[in-house]
Amino acid sequence: MVKQMNDLKSLTLSELEQVLTEQGEKKFRAGQMYEWMHRKLAADLDEMTNLPKDLRNRMKEQYEYTSLKLLKRQISKADGTQKFLFQCADGNVMESVWMKYKHGNSVCISSQIGCRMGCRFCASTLDGLKRGLRPSEMLDQIYCITRLTGERVSNVVVMGTGEPLDNYDNLLRFITLLTDENGLHISQRNITVSTCGIVPKMYALADEKLQITLALSLHASNDEKRKKLMPVANQYSISELIEACRYYFEKTGRRISFEYSMVKGVNDTKEDARELTELLAPLNCHVNLIPVNPIKEREFVQPTAGYVQNFQKMLEKKIRHVTIRREMGRDIDGACGQLRRRHMEQEQTERL
Ligand code: SAH
Repeated sequence: MVKQMNDLKSLTLSELEQVLTEQGEKKFRAGQMYEWMHRKLAADLDEMTNLPKDLRNRMKEQYEYTSLKLLKRQISKADGTQKFLFQCADGNVMESVWMKYKHGNSVCISSQIGCRMGCRFCASTLDGLKRGLRPSEMLDQIYCITRLTGERVSNVVVMGTGEPLDNYDNLLRFITLLTDENGLHISQRNITVSTCGIVPKMYALADEKLQITLALSLHASNDEKRKKLMPVANQYSISELIEACRYYFEKTGRRISFEYSMVKGVNDTKEDARELTELLAPLNCHVNLIPVNPIKEREFVQPTAGYVQNFQKMLEKKIRHVTIRREMGRDIDGACGQLRRRHMEQEQTERL
């Protein structure tokens, strides 16, 4: 793992033990500090009342203790989904979503501030990439939401703003910390990472042999169409992607989840369904259909519900697991990146 130099919450327990013992502290102090950070979800070092004050002060001098400031919280009247707008120490803002399901609470986190992938239908990418989030900042989204809702999070999806595989080392460290038995101890099987398909990183991730679910944002069944929706398709062909998915399944035994955002008149025809079935039927996979969430900067329109259901039926002839994503929090700027974007637009107008 790549070292995290001065970011306290991004250190593993053994790294923290090393830091503290090198400073002449007893090893158990690291355990206490780690528990405060990753179990008790302390907002700052001053909360760590059973640690000597001089140790806390020394840590404050040497390390950064990340914490997020809540700028906005929206609660959906329709389904209880909550959206959070957070601000990092450097002033950048990001959003996260909390969803309540029968099987537990799920949090959708951002992995980057902005995104450079340029998918045409996505609001998160319109202003490009500012920077990747640190492991601590990815954790903080979950920690803050847990504190605010008072409820345990059982599932984490890395499907918010950003391309997680474009922030690979930080993503891996985040997963290590999130699944650590001394922290929230979330099972790898309850973590989903969604990618637009950065092929070399998909191979690298497969070799990590984690039990997380990999979701691939496919959105088209041939290269020509995919290139119109996703610039990354100019770099990697669908056949290269499928090969990488096979490899992932071989190495991990985990079924790939294919995401397919349906756009009226663009990728929702019978021919699209036929081509998609041909492509995916040979794989052990799950297909998730998402009626595109319209954003005001683009002309994309959702197919009707009946149309999406017909598309599902056509796929189901040869693919066993095909679902339609339930739309959550439609009344609260549901689509990716819209809340953050609205906030940035507002700030700009206020400055004028
Ligand atoms: N960069 C990653 C994860 C973030 S996007 C990825 O590409 O997978 C999470 C999912 O939402 C992706 O499948 C993305 O293509 C999809 N998405 C983004 N904007 C959308 C919109 N307006 N409507 C429907 N799906 C959208």
